[in-house]
Amino acid sequence: MIIQPKIVRNVCLTAHPKGCAQGVKEQIEWVSGRPASGITPQRVLVIGGSTGYGLASRITAAFWGHADTVGISFEREPSEKKTGTPGWYNNRAFDAAAEQRGLKAVTIEGDAFSHEVKQRTIDVLKHDIGKVDAVIYSLASPMRTDPDTGETYMSVIKPIGMPYTGYSVDMMTEKISLTTIDPATKQQIASTVKVMGGEDWMLWMQALLEAGVLSPGAVTAAYSYIGPEITFPLYREGTIGRAKEDLEQKARKIHTMLSEIGGSAYVSVNKALVTRASAVIPVVPLYISILYKVMKKKGLHEGCIEQIYRLFCERLFTGNDVPVDEQGRIRIDDYEMRDDVQAETADLWKSIENQDLHAISDIKGYRSEYFQLHGFEFPGVNYDEDTDPMSIN
Ligand code: NAD
Repeated sequence: MIIQPKIVRNVCLTAHPKGCAQGVKEQIEWVSGRPASGITPQRVLVIGGSTGYGLASRITAAFWGHADTVGISFEREPSEKKTGTPGWYNNRAFDAAAEQRGLKAVTIEGDAFSHEVKQRTIDVLKHDIGKVDAVIYSLASPMRTDPDTGETYMSVIKPIGMPYTGYSVDMMTEKISLTTIDPATKQQIASTVKVMGGEDWMLWMQALLEAGVLSPGAVTAAYSYIGPEITFPLYREGTIGRAKEDLEQKARKIHTMLSEIGGSAYVSVNKALVTRASAVIPVVPLYISILYKVMKKKGLHEGCIEQIYRLFCERLFTGNDVPVDEQGRIRIDDYEMRDDVQAETADLWKSIENQDLHAISDIKGYRSEYFQLHGFEFPGVNYDEDTDPMSIN
């Protein structure tokens, strides 16, 4: 079939196998052979490792640090008539590249929230990979079924206490509109914390510790976001912000729990980037488009792989103490949050209504990156060619 992007409300429903493989290849090429510092982990588990920050973490661990890796993700496989999800193709491309480099790579596709996937992972670590030195937790999910009660919780992106009105952009039509989002109910706040907070990360670390599959001194990190004041009511002070606060609290608990093996736990605050998860948050794609314009102009732009390389090389695995802020968090959002970057972004944000979108933002760059996440718009790929959605070469 001819595989083209099919986008509905900022969500792409198709993915191109060859383009996804090209995206993985480009990240591998970028990170391979970059200078190492300190001691790199030799066996790494990445939970949520098929796209976005998690994929970049797995690629950095393997192709910068030469680690054997286990990646967990939730993906839809392709059929003859329907493409798989990008992560499904990314996983195959990653596994093939790792094998070529002589690295062990085990990919487990299933629900990371379930007991079953945790047990499968432990079995793989015990029998095939060995104890892990690092665990990266990079899940972004709209829902979670509690494995003990069977109850399903949905996460929502909503303000708390009062409605929020802000600008959003449709990336295809480039139409800007003012969107009002009603405040979350108490139940929605609690559900979002249940899905995107730290409970499942803690369950993973407990299970891995109890099973004896963490190396002495093992490190774990989960990803968070703070962002600018314009997104505060919806993000940091909204339902998802509550979940991130919970994640940060759980990091402290996990840190204490790991002390028996000399291990540590961190939350890393990362930069706003185009991923499948961030594209569906109102306001955020428009903010990212403006931020990209400012950061590219200043030569500060980074994608997932650049961010994670900096996290591994300059923060987590230097052989020295991990640098953290006053709340114990690693900050690789430092360039995004620089005063000059934020001031220019805020100025451009104020002119949204009376300026041409292309003049104030990098909407083109945003859209192109989003397409590439799904395997589209890579110059070397022939998109007019008949392609088997089930092929992975
Ligand atoms: P993403 O959508 O690209 O990746 C999410 C991953 O989670 C995928 O591998 C997916 O398969 C996996 N996943 C989802 N549900 C699962 C399930 N039930 N079982 C197993 N795997 C499952 O998202 P992302 O943007 O890379 O987000 C990863 C983390 O980084 C999130 O915690 C997010 O809040 C954080 N973060 C993102 C940004 C950003 O701008 N994108 C910025 C800072 C922090």
